[in-house]
Amino acid sequence: MTPHWDVIVLGAGASGLMCSAQAAYNGNKVLVLDHAPKAAAKIRISGGGKCNFTNVDVSPAHFICQNPHFVKSALSRYPSTAFVELVERHGLAFEVRGGGKYFCAERALDLIQILRTECDWAGVHFQLKTQLESVQYRGGEYFLNTSQGTFCALKLVVATGALSFPKLKATGIGYELAKQFGLNVIATSPGLVPLTFSDKWQARFSELSGLSMTVCAQVADHSFTEAMLFTHKGLSGPAILQVSNYWQQGEPITLNTLPAYSETQLYQAFIELKQSGKSLPKWLNQFWPKRFTQIWLEVYSMETVLSNMSNERLQHYAKQLTHWVLFPANTAGYDKAEVTLGGVDTDDISSKTFESKQPNLFFIGEVLDVTGQLGGFNFQWAWASGMACGLAL
Ligand SMILES: Cc1cc2nc3c(=O)[nH]c(=O)nc-3n(C[C@H](O)[C@H](O)[C@H](O)COP(=O)(O)OP(=O)(O)OC[C@H]3O[C@@H](n4cnc5c(N)ncnc54)[C@H](O)[C@@H]3O)c2cc1C
Repeated sequence: MTPHWDVIVLGAGASGLMCSAQAAYNGNKVLVLDHAPKAAAKIRISGGGKCNFTNVDVSPAHFICQNPHFVKSALSRYPSTAFVELVERHGLAFEVRGGGKYFCAERALDLIQILRTECDWAGVHFQLKTQLESVQYRGGEYFLNTSQGTFCALKLVVATGALSFPKLKATGIGYELAKQFGLNVIATSPGLVPLTFSDKWQARFSELSGLSMTVCAQVADHSFTEAMLFTHKGLSGPAILQVSNYWQQGEPITLNTLPAYSETQLYQAFIELKQSGKSLPKWLNQFWPKRFTQIWLEVYSMETVLSNMSNERLQHYAKQLTHWVLFPANTAGYDKAEVTLGGVDTDDISSKTFESKQPNLFFIGEVLDVTGQLGGFNFQWAWASGMACGLAL
């Protein structure tokens, strides 16, 4: 006999757990099905094992979506304060770091335990280590054929996340299901991802690998002042991950390597330095790691004493340092991306209930065309969309 459920949630990740608990509290018989051996692998490893689970200041402006209004309803109905209240009720020790980022004080596992406890209290059933083979819709019910037999439900919630970090069992099954049921999927690409240099730039800068410095990174109208990290293949660190969400292949990124200075202020500082007769490298080393100063002066054949330099030359240097224009070759791909841009088109989804145009088929979390900036926004989207959907079930 095929077991019948009111709701099957496909995906025991952040949004799936949130939705399941709420749907079960509403009185539904809920099954969560996942192919992974354990729930919420991404929560476990996120934030260096401490999970940046939300942010003090969450607004629609922190998200990328073809319809920027889509996120408003869920985010306003389940703000970050609501999630913080939930974890406080469970006694989670947490800390708020720079940029309003909430982290677990000890282990991300404690957060998973809270979500699992909520699911247990609500009576959610788990079916892990189960491979989905196909989904059929007949007689008003969804039949999931799996490696462990067939499961059937009146309502199916797709919470399978996106393509980033395939080693954590990420797949594109959510997009395939959307297409199977006639929904549109916006083209996907890696987001919050390191950027790679061309061979020429790699040769010049690879010896800086491991070195970190604060920059203001800019792509189009989006700029972020945070740490940047040199890697063997290119650039990473928060500033680069943030702009990667807005970068298109072939476009430049612009770095202000001295973000405390605008071009005009730096020119003024150089004039004063010229008059004082002090050396440029020593001055730069106040702000830059020494190795970066050394490589920069070599690569750009920059003179170290400004005394005999024309003001035009100083102006040129001020521009070069505050507008370092780089053309990344590519991104480091889904293997290194924290999120996936694009996904199930929100035009086909209700922003209130998360039901799609296909009756009783719901999509929540990262599988949707909604991507947050770095800072806990992606988990906040998982909680908010999961809760909104759970309440509607
Ligand atoms: C390294 C890393 C660090 C991150 N750090 C942060 C952070 O600190 N803060 C933040 O806000 N965001 C962070 N993110 C992003 C965040 O993890 C995701 O946005 C969030 O987990 C999305 O939730 P979700 O429920 O949509 O999907 P997920 O949490 O990815 O859950 C999807 C679930 O679906 C299951 N699944 C997939 N395919 C199938 C299938 N074919 N059959 C059955 N089950 C399937 C998976 O096993 C998984 O359990 C990070 C991501 C990565 C990769």
